[in-house]
Amino acid sequence: MLAPIFNSEVTSLNILLFGPNGSGKGTQGALLKQKFNLAHIESGAIFREHCGKGTELGKQAGAYMERGDLVPDDITIPMVLETLKNDGAKGWLLDGFPRNLLQAEKLWEAMQASGLTLDYVVELLLPRAAAEIRITGRRICSVDDSHPNNIHIAGIMPEGGKCRVCGGALSGRADDRDPKAVNKRHDIYYDDKNGTLAAVRFFRESAARGKCRYVALDAQEDINTIKDTLSAALA
Ligand code: AMP
Repeated sequence: MLAPIFNSEVTSLNILLFGPNGSGKGTQGALLKQKFNLAHIESGAIFREHCGKGTELGKQAGAYMERGDLVPDDITIPMVLETLKNDGAKGWLLDGFPRNLLQAEKLWEAMQASGLTLDYVVELLLPRAAAEIRITGRRICSVDDSHPNNIHIAGIMPEGGKCRVCGGALSGRADDRDPKAVNKRHDIYYDDKNGTLAAVRFFRESAARGKCRYVALDAQEDINTIKDTLSAALA
């Protein structure tokens, strides 16, 4: 029996956000975070922060990230569960985790052990070829990496080569520049046996059993249409 890891006495909203790299999770995630005042817990951003600070965890994760491989489960799962426990007591939006079936099962087990409910599972649907094009257009703001900028997506195009939100300098993300790494990340995402689509299926089946609500969004719609659809689905 796992020890409870979350404070289940606090009533709060918990949301899982799925979508391949390039599907606009950052943009829709920001909306969800703001609407429900949630902690936005993004596994990739946590790893990048550790890499930037040169921590032991960052050193362990860095090589996997550069290649587009998953950081091993025995590092990732405790790291995410610990972050949820520390930062997510008032509700969380989890983004980038779970990425495979084992992570999905472990998250579900931990939530069950804590008596915690999952309110929504949101999936952004995007064909692989479209996701690949979008990834090459993604630009990261040097001031705040949650500011969405993409030269291939109407609505979030940089302005004058600078961040459209704050005017900060933009650069490409290291692991987006290597086509092999991009490919590998999408291999993992679109793998419906053990990869991320298997994790999505796990939670879609939970939704079918009435354990949570599942919302699918067409990521090829324009950004405001997706935002409106999402807001309506969560109202
Ligand atoms: P992302 O920003 O979500 O694209 O994540 C960047 C990189 O961090 C991934 O390519 C993985 O190397 C690592 N990472 C992020 N989330 C996970 C996860 N749930 N499991 C394993 N590795 C992860």
